[in-house]
Amino acid sequence: MNEILLAPEDLGPSKGLDSIALLSSEERLQGRPKLCSDCGLCDSSLKGRMASTCIFVRNQTETIEERLHGRRSKPDDELRFGIHRAQYAARCLKPHPKAQWSGIVTRLGARLLEQGLVEAVITTAAAAGTRFQAEPVLARTPEEVLATAGNKPCLSPNLRLLDQVRDQGISRLAFIGTSCQVHMLRALEPELGLDRLYIIGIPCSDNVTYPDLQYFLTQISRSPETVVHYEFMQDFRLWLRHENGSIERVNFIDFPMDKLHGIFPSACLSCFDYVNRLSDLTIGYMGAPLGWQWVLARTEAGESLFELIRPELEFGELISIGDRTRAMPRYIQGLTRPPGSKRPPFWVRKLVAYLQRTRGSKGLEFARAIIEMKLFRNLNYVRSKFPRFEARVVPGHVYRALAPYAETYRAVFGLDLKPPAERP
Ligand SMILES: Cc1cc2nc3c(=O)[nH]c(=O)nc-3n(C[C@H](O)[C@H](O)[C@H](O)COP(=O)(O)OP(=O)(O)OC[C@H]3O[C@@H](n4cnc5c(N)ncnc54)[C@H](O)[C@@H]3O)c2cc1C
Repeated sequence: MNEILLAPEDLGPSKGLDSIALLSSEERLQGRPKLCSDCGLCDSSLKGRMASTCIFVRNQTETIEERLHGRRSKPDDELRFGIHRAQYAARCLKPHPKAQWSGIVTRLGARLLEQGLVEAVITTAAAAGTRFQAEPVLARTPEEVLATAGNKPCLSPNLRLLDQVRDQGISRLAFIGTSCQVHMLRALEPELGLDRLYIIGIPCSDNVTYPDLQYFLTQISRSPETVVHYEFMQDFRLWLRHENGSIERVNFIDFPMDKLHGIFPSACLSCFDYVNRLSDLTIGYMGAPLGWQWVLARTEAGESLFELIRPELEFGELISIGDRTRAMPRYIQGLTRPPGSKRPPFWVRKLVAYLQRTRGSKGLEFARAIIEMKLFRNLNYVRSKFPRFEARVVPGHVYRALAPYAETYRAVFGLDLKPPAERP
């Protein structure tokens, strides 16, 4: 049968969670490590450095944090959000109409070029003829950066452009990307010979390949082909904007997980850096109130990036409402359900969605909740699918962040929340 003749909804997810395989069905990725997020390094002449830099071969987050900050994360929020000097709820005074949120990321990239602070910006455009297929670009003008506004919510091999950086003699570079890409880049940084490297990080979780993104939309939206923008919002709903401007809202609890089971790559389920801890400046939304962006300045360079964009921003208040620790034991218990279980009945989902919207955690507490949930889910994924990898791919801060739930975890799974070397 010719696959090209099939609609995405007929194809099904490209890979089951249980298969210990390479990403999706992409032939291009064969021969890569079992855990691969297609960061692009292996498409470049730096491929030989993969084994010593890849986050899924050996997670070096804590070592790199020590190099960047001279210390490890303090207890509490730094364990979840990463080391930071300041955080803000902000948005552009004049939002970019095509931005994912208000466009702080691309505005900042454009300003860096305008002011001659960098010669190029690595950013992610949409491939020609598509809305969402990621295509890394080496932008040399502010206009080229601004044209990349908006998420292409799928894996993007941004690091393959490092060869072009070298070939074009670029020595001052800005990089916009996800945490797996940023880990490789930081690990390589000392040997890249750049005079300046600014890293603008976006939080990232549960990324997918482009075919799986198309499949996801067919399962979620009433009109997948007209979706122009979508985001997983802080009100526990997915908001999808259509070509005609209408907004479709789908409760997370209403997602058909039995059909989506299997679309997330093994690598993303083995990732422990939701918040892009190794960036200079992380720009997301999940710790800010609905409608605002969440910005974390981590390094001195990150603070200077923020000062550059500050005049173009308005500021909101960072809030923290709710108590995630009360709901977390139920979440941990829920991890014992087989992945892809059927949804609860309609009335239960309706009630849960209502409670999440009205009583759920908000602001920084929402971010803490969602980060801890992903840490638990991914730790369990590694322990069940790749137990021999745990010592290499799970960084120490994960165990320290989750320590308050150690007793519950032990009661549910009969296992300690400790690294393999410290377990009996
Ligand atoms: C797959 C994915 C998952 C995300 N999940 C979260 C989340 O759970 N919580 C959260 O707070 N934030 C998340 N973000 C970040 C958030 O959605 C926004 O991208 C961010 O807040 C910047 O908004 P903006 O309006 O300033 O960006 P814009 O000015 O619109 O610029 C967006 C930038 O994102 C880059 N980009 C787009 N797609 C990709 C990609 N596939 N890989 C690498 N870079 C890309 C573009 O190059 C562009 O520079 C996620 C982003 C992606 C791509």
